[in-house]
Parts: sequence; structure tokens; C-alpha cells
Amino acid sequence: MSGRRRKLILAVIDALSPAALDEAIAEGAAPVLAELSRRGEHVRDCVSTFPSLTPVAASAITTGLGPDEHLIPSMNWYHRGEERYVEYGSSFQATRAFGVLRALQDTVYNMNLAHLAPDRRTIFEQLDDAGLRTAGTTYLIYRGRHRHEPARDSPYRRIAEAAQFRHAVWGPRELFYADIFDTRNSGCSSSLGLPGQRDRHAGCVGEYLVEHDLFDFLLLSLPDNDTYSHKRGPDAQPVSIAEADRALERIARAAGGIDALLADHALIVMSDHSQSAVEQPVNLAHHLDDWRILAPSDAAPEEAELAVCPGARSAMAYVLDGRRRGRALERLTRQLRGIEGVDLTAWTEGERAVVAGTDGELRFAPGGPLTDERGATWAVDGDLAVVDLDSAGGELRGGDYPDALGRLWSALRCPRAGDAIVSATPGYEFVDWGGSHHEGGGSHGSLHRCDSHGVLITCGVDGRPPGPRPWHLRDVTPLIAGHFGLPS
Ligand SMILES: [Zn+2]
Repeated sequence: MSGRRRKLILAVIDALSPAALDEAIAEGAAPVLAELSRRGEHVRDCVSTFPSLTPVAASAITTGLGPDEHLIPSMNWYHRGEERYVEYGSSFQATRAFGVLRALQDTVYNMNLAHLAPDRRTIFEQLDDAGLRTAGTTYLIYRGRHRHEPARDSPYRRIAEAAQFRHAVWGPRELFYADIFDTRNSGCSSSLGLPGQRDRHAGCVGEYLVEHDLFDFLLLSLPDNDTYSHKRGPDAQPVSIAEADRALERIARAAGGIDALLADHALIVMSDHSQSAVEQPVNLAHHLDDWRILAPSDAAPEEAELAVCPGARSAMAYVLDGRRRGRALERLTRQLRGIEGVDLTAWTEGERAVVAGTDGELRFAPGGPLTDERGATWAVDGDLAVVDLDSAGGELRGGDYPDALGRLWSALRCPRAGDAIVSATPGYEFVDWGGSHHEGGGSHGSLHRCDSHGVLITCGVDGRPPGPRPWHLRDVTPLIAGHFGLPS
């Protein structure tokens, strides 16, 4: 490698659980991941965002920012400006409750082109600006500097047009997005992004891009593990991890084997969050039925007092009558704290944040005598045990809730966040607006480590790793920028 830096592939395996990856490697089901783990650095506690949900986490991975700055608060949220819910596809049933076309427009177009902070650069935009060749397979965040019209010769063109995919987008130089955007005729199809087909599509596109030397940076999205794990539970992941590994194997083969691949490419393999087992669904709207709650297609939205936004193992609630916010928030948070399955309830109080369990409360704000593991300083008042924190000699040490204060603060300071945010007790999940949940399977979203710790494997990445440990999703954007010699 004289003069030229290695190309870089960032593979995001959705919901990849650290323990399940270790098991898949031990079983021999993931030979490429095993090899990357052996040759590179393998972190098992990379901290996700809160909520630990894909839209929030994907935005952090691609911008290096938390929700307070990237502005994507959750999977489902209330748009105060447009006075409506935004739904990014919690489930097919939830998508139907809000209208399939609207949910698709929000997910494919608005998330990137309207909701994601317009004045902050994604990693694609940073690398595009530096003249590097960027590429991406179907990933929630794709915003770059290159304009792409919807694919004209796709076999799915008619369906895509019926679903209103008629507008151009700004993406990486090479964009392969669920047969809707196809920069080149790679011959790969994802059956419009059908679960179970998507990892294969990514592998096919990756193989084509490597064969034709078409990128310096590739974001390879491998989402099928999340779907599989939702259905069968996180313990079943080795099966879907093996599928993700096959996509990587295909790419390695196109490069001439793993040695040849690593001679020319650095690799980062990571989770966006993990998953934990769901035993008990909770319907928040039922518990809050003394409020007039805004319905997905509400005939009299002006009468609603509260918007409720379930986000799997997290949820947000918005007080819609701003004049009575103080009183209403007090009543709301008291109720939320009493619901079985609600572990933590958080809200802001002036310049401070409050997080409450069933018994204790903790108030906190940045800047103060205590330093956390990431080097951030905090002033706290109340019961540290609420978020399993310990302070000794001015150092804050975490337990069950990784980066608890930093992540709660970022979630609450997102201008689009609800007035109250809740995190579910392990084993519980909030039912979405379509009535769906994953009882008997897996889910994620909470502040608890069971959803929040993910994998980060780096192999051949140049430059100094940024920031103090533990690793956070936010560290990946500066890591990639640093690899290409760009200021982060
Ligand atoms: Zn998921």
C-alpha cells in the first residue's frame, strides 16, 4: 500500500448480537466474520443510541452525531410542525395504520431529504466532497452528493411508480436501493427489498462493485438478521448471521479471496443495536386511555391531548396542548412510571433532565464535577442507582445502562423528541400502532445493555481511533473520515 489508502467496506449487520456472533463463529457458521475477528480488533460492547432503534442508530453511524444533532428521534414520532405522526415502518400493520404510501414516502424520501439534519454532512457527503468514490446498498440513510432518478428498466418499475417512487434523490455515487434506485445494471434484484432477500442483494451488488472496481467507500447493509431475530429471538441469530457471512464471502471471492480482499480493502463490521427476548407486550395507549390520544387517521385531530409513539422497547409521548404542558407532563410521567413494563421514564425540567424509575429519581445536566467513561462531565442530583451508576472519586461508572446520561441527554435534547421518553423493562415491548409486537421473539429500543451493546470489528483501518472508549456508534464516521485522511 504505497501512496494510496485502502478502499473501505462498512458492513452493518442489523441487530447483530455480540454473543450470537461469538456462537456463530464457534459453530463455524461465519467463516469470513471469524477471519475478520481473528485479524482485526473485535469489540463486543460498542454502545448504540437511545432509543436503540435502526433509524436513530443508522443516522448516528452515518453522521457521527446523536439524535440531538442528527434529528431522527425514533421509529415513530410526532411532527409538531406538520401536526401528524411520522412512521418509518415499525411493522407492516403499523405502516398500514398510517397509510402505506405516506409511510414509504417518509422512510425513503423524507428521512434523508427532510428529517435528517440538512446542515450536517453524512459520511457519503464528506467523502463525495473529497472526490472519493462512494457506494451504498439499501440502507435507511443514503444521503450523498450524487443525483439519482428512479430506475427505469427495473422489473419492479410499475410497482415502484404505483408506490409513488417518482422523485430523484441525492445519494452516493453508486446507489443500489431496493430496486428503486439502481445506478448500474448489476443484474442484482432484491424483489423490492423483501426480507430474506436483502442480504443476498447486498452480496450480489457488493460482488459486482468489487469486480468492476467502482468504489473507495462502500456501505454494505445486511438487514435480514434483524427481521429473523425479531421473529425467532436473538438466540436464533447464528442462522441469519451465516446468511450475512455468505454475502461477505461472495465479495471476498470477487476480490480473489480474503487475503486479496484485505490487501486492497479495510473492513468495518458492526451492529446498529442488539436484541433481547420479548415475553410480554404492553399497550401504552390502553394504559393512558383517560387522555384523548391522537389516532393514526384521526377524524378530529384538534381534539387530541396526547400523541403516543411506541418504538418497540422505547416509546415517546407528546403533550399536544402547549398551554397546559407543565401540569399535563406531571400527570403523564406519574402515570407512565406506574405502568408494568416501563423501566425508566425521562423528561426535561428547565435546563435539566430527569430520569425516574418506579421509586427513585435522578436530575442531571452536562458540566459538573463528575466525569463519565467517555470523558463527559455531569452535575447530578438524586438517586444514581436509578440508572445503575456509581460515583467514586469523581468518576461515574456505568452498569446496566451504557452511557446512560449521555444517551438520555441526546434523546431528550432532540427537538423532535416527545415530552416524555420511556425505556422498557427487559422482557417487555410496547405494541405499535398496527397492534404488532414480537412476543416469543426479539426486540430492541431500550437504554438497557441487553439492546444497546453491539459488535464493532475493524480490520486494516488506518488512522488513530477517535475519542475515549468505550466505543460508540458515533465514532465510526470520524474513523472512516480519518482512514481517508480527512479532518473529522
Ligand atoms: Zn429491529
